[in-house]
Amino acid sequence: MTQGIENKVVVITGASSGLGEAVARHLAQQGAKLVLGARRLDRLRTLAQALSLGEDAAVQTDVTRHEQVQRLVDRAVQAHGRIDVIINNAGLMPQSPLERGKIDDWDRMIDVNIKGVLYGIAAALPHMKARKSGHIINVSSVAGHKVRAGGTVYAATKHAVRVISEGLRQEVKPYNIRTTILSPGMVATELPDSITEPDIAQAMRKAYEGAIPAESFARTVAFAMSQPNEVDINEILFRPTAQD
Ligand code: NDP
Repeated sequence: MTQGIENKVVVITGASSGLGEAVARHLAQQGAKLVLGARRLDRLRTLAQALSLGEDAAVQTDVTRHEQVQRLVDRAVQAHGRIDVIINNAGLMPQSPLERGKIDDWDRMIDVNIKGVLYGIAAALPHMKARKSGHIINVSSVAGHKVRAGGTVYAATKHAVRVISEGLRQEVKPYNIRTTILSPGMVATELPDSITEPDIAQAMRKAYEGAIPAESFARTVAFAMSQPNEVDINEILFRPTAQD
């Protein structure tokens, strides 16, 4: 068990695979109390069962629907009396050059990667303000720091997550609420499967052969959470050693 993690009530969006699932596994081992959200309820339930969380810990959630994100956070408060940490992790990366005009993909990235984070903040903040305690962890990316051709909209959403997080940090200081941006590089997950253009998906899968395990991300979450309350890890940027 790790101090700063044991008994913390943690809500994780996008917990049905990849980084969210890895964080859930890692924090459960350290004694956190978890409530997991994503659309694929079967996968959430299987994970909740594997981690002995109880069926109530799996909440079917589409983060593009603010009332569903509110229900996810409310479930944590009902079950455990409070929410200590929200990890706004759900996201997708259907990249393509702008000239291909994949407007549906742009809409989905904006809705999930940006609005989903805002809805998580909106749902958790009143509870955290009332208790003058909390930690909001938002998942950005190396793509939140730089843009490359073919990844413009994804990079825009991840830049937005960083801007939202920094504005939030300044606004919630008086309430003793910590904010952390996590900006990973290539980590082995199902993320490339969200790419809808076959040629780009193929190139991305090739690039992801150099990805690092999702456990690397889980360790960064644990590091940020386990600091003393007066220490706010504002951002962690990390990537595979061999990545540009
Ligand atoms: P995965 O595809 O493995 O996981 C994405 C998660 O997001 C799934 O659990 C999925 O669940 C969930 N999700 C997608 N859409 C929605 C929605 N509308 N409502 C609720 N949940 C949703 O990818 P990762 O684990 O890699 O991605 C997690 C985050 O990490 C994303 O924000 C991504 O941008 C970021 N990231 C990932 C990197 C990487 O290399 N893996 C690098 C940098 C950042 P479900 O489909 O069941 O709803």
